[in-house]
Amino acid sequence: MLRLRRELLEETFEHLRACGAGRRECVAYWLGPRSQDGEVSEIVHPGHSATATSYDVDGSWLNELWVRLARQELELRAQVHTHPGSAFHSSRDNHMAAIQTAGFASLVIPRFALGDVSLEGVHLERRGSDGGWQAANASDAIEVT
Ligand SMILES: [Zn+2]
Repeated sequence: MLRLRRELLEETFEHLRACGAGRRECVAYWLGPRSQDGEVSEIVHPGHSATATSYDVDGSWLNELWVRLARQELELRAQVHTHPGSAFHSSRDNHMAAIQTAGFASLVIPRFALGDVSLEGVHLERRGSDGGWQAANASDAIEVT
């Protein structure tokens, strides 16, 4: 179970819309303190390139994130990215996930996040302990407070 404040969900959509401009995919990461299981306290917008159907996070940006997470005792809990059309987890998405840790969540937001700020229509996958992905119901797995 992930928990985040409504403002953080709104902020996520704002990043995805502003950067993707209805033309390109975009990605945001949800971070939370290691001491608070499932809590999302912050959103970051990685340095990345993108096309209408893919994105690539900048490697050196990601390295800096790992350093910061270790220093501030934060965890990367979820990646949130957009698709041009419907939300699903492509095989590329399965392979491109930022981390391999069990429980890591990957959310896909349809239509470049131009719709309502909501978990409606969002596709969620969580990584299992066997390293595979399992679809989950976003409304059940994410509590927006
Ligand atoms: Zn972006």
